[in-house]
Amino acid sequence: MKILDGKKLAEEIKSELRTEVLGLKEKGIVPGLAVVIVGENSASKIYVKNKKRACEEIGIYSQVFELEEKIFQDELLEVIGKLNADEKVHGILVQLPLPAHIEKEKIILAIDPKKDVDCFHPENIGKVFLGQEIFPPCTPAGILEILKRSEIEIVGKDVVIVGRSNIVGKPLALMMINLGATVTVCHSKTENLKEKCLGADILVSAVGYTGLITKDMIKQRAVVIDVGMNRDDEGKLTGDVDFLEVSQIASAITPVPGGVGPMTITMLLKNTIKSAKFYANRS
Ligand code: NAP
Repeated sequence: MKILDGKKLAEEIKSELRTEVLGLKEKGIVPGLAVVIVGENSASKIYVKNKKRACEEIGIYSQVFELEEKIFQDELLEVIGKLNADEKVHGILVQLPLPAHIEKEKIILAIDPKKDVDCFHPENIGKVFLGQEIFPPCTPAGILEILKRSEIEIVGKDVVIVGRSNIVGKPLALMMINLGATVTVCHSKTENLKEKCLGADILVSAVGYTGLITKDMIKQRAVVIDVGMNRDDEGKLTGDVDFLEVSQIASAITPVPGGVGPMTITMLLKNTIKSAKFYANRS
């Protein structure tokens, strides 16, 4: 059984990106990422801190805008408008969730699709549907990169994805279909989840429920990707998959922590650099 070490792969990719950033800087281009966070959500604050640190590690200019929970929607739209116009900023990320009084869809629509490095804008999601993505959504892209760098074949494989969210399950399903996999997407209304999972050559769980995926749901030698990032009763980070048991049956598995998580941030850095290059070619 092989552990798919996302942390190690992420370090490898970051080292490649660092070299790329140095090359861009020699041409006078400094990739820039703006991260907007509204309110006091502690998990969001940690994610934002990690993203800023990752930018610093590879030489991307980053700016974090910490806005008050009670900010008016129009004020937030104004911040985004300014970032759309800011030439130093090539990527804009609005950390979700947003407070209830703010319409998430309106905020996402306000981000210039050319700076939407998180791939939330409908225009960019449409491109994923067509297999023409400019900024591949970060978590699905991170999963595909793990599989590619671990030389795990996707073409012709039966893939089961548990979870149909707009940021993980659905875009990953589209990307895998476009790559030649046969994909089944499961969710909370799925009947016979166990039988469906047992058919998977590659099983991806993106639910948010500790211990959902047990060994009796896994085909011998299947590849198991655990996207879940959950906290157990003691506050320890866990995935959706019963790692100890499932790793006895799987041929390869991602751990939590140290699997998909580090790759997600790395894909964000990659998209920001890509956007800076597009910008340089446009101007
Ligand atoms: P989400 O929007 O809450 O979606 C969860 C999905 O799981 C939904 O489609 C839901 O079905 C389905 N589901 C819920 N209970 C189920 C059950 N008992 N059986 C089968 N399906 C069930 O979550 P998300 O944003 O995609 O995130 C999922 C998990 O991944 C979370 O733990 C999150 O923290 C983690 N995550 C990790 C990364 C990373 O970088 N590692 C990135 C993003 C998310 P319905 O649609 O029917 O409600």
